[in-house]
Amino acid sequence: CGIVGYIGHREAYPVIIKGLKRLEYRGYDSAGIVLYDGEKLKLSKTKGKVSDLEKKSAEEITTNGTIGMGHTRWATHGVPNDVNSHPHYSNSGELVIIHNGIIENYEPLKKELINRGYTFKSDTDTEVLINLIEDVQKSHNLKLGKAVQVALNQVVGAYAIVVFDIKKPNEIVAARLGSPLAIGIGENEYFIASDATPFIEYTSNAIYLEDEEMAVVRLNKGMKIRKIKDDSLVDPYIQQLQM
Ligand code: GLU
Repeated sequence: CGIVGYIGHREAYPVIIKGLKRLEYRGYDSAGIVLYDGEKLKLSKTKGKVSDLEKKSAEEITTNGTIGMGHTRWATHGVPNDVNSHPHYSNSGELVIIHNGIIENYEPLKKELINRGYTFKSDTDTEVLINLIEDVQKSHNLKLGKAVQVALNQVVGAYAIVVFDIKKPNEIVAARLGSPLAIGIGENEYFIASDATPFIEYTSNAIYLEDEEMAVVRLNKGMKIRKIKDDSLVDPYIQQLQM
């Protein structure tokens, strides 16, 4: 399973597809991609290989975008099929997530969300998390980063996630606990991936998130890393990758 996110000035689609191929060694049963074209989110996902996604998405995603993310899934909750593949939307359609890992307490969280009127398309634990983030965001009128943080503090499990909010299209939020996540830092562009192989050709500057850390990455405004539990700011350690 693997994660690739991009925000910057390049066409995100080839960066993400190429990146997913480099992460294929991690194993997976399905793959998906979402792009933001400046107006709308364009999504394509399928059971099968990244090459299957490449074929399907070439028909479904015909616009360009400089923000996007892609995922290879190793199913834990819900069989491998197109609907359970990532990315997953929140109920409003404004938030979108990719996730590697397991939300162990997804059942009580899902029940509570259903009581609050949320509906679910997939059988995944991941769709529970994105709706929890949306519920927190809307109930307390929070920025995306804060909503992700509050939601993750209610979660038991393991995760590497990337979240995008169509209302704030210059920003991506990433977080990890138990699954790896690296951030590649270019010139006003950022790459987020399970390891550095998807971005090593674009930049040699990388930050490896530690467990229980989250990053809010903003174009033109830089990046902030915090501890998910106590909200303290982390001084980022930028490593020089060997090309
Ligand atoms: N638990 C999630 C699912 O089953 C993510 C699995 C993964 O790590 O790819 O959809």
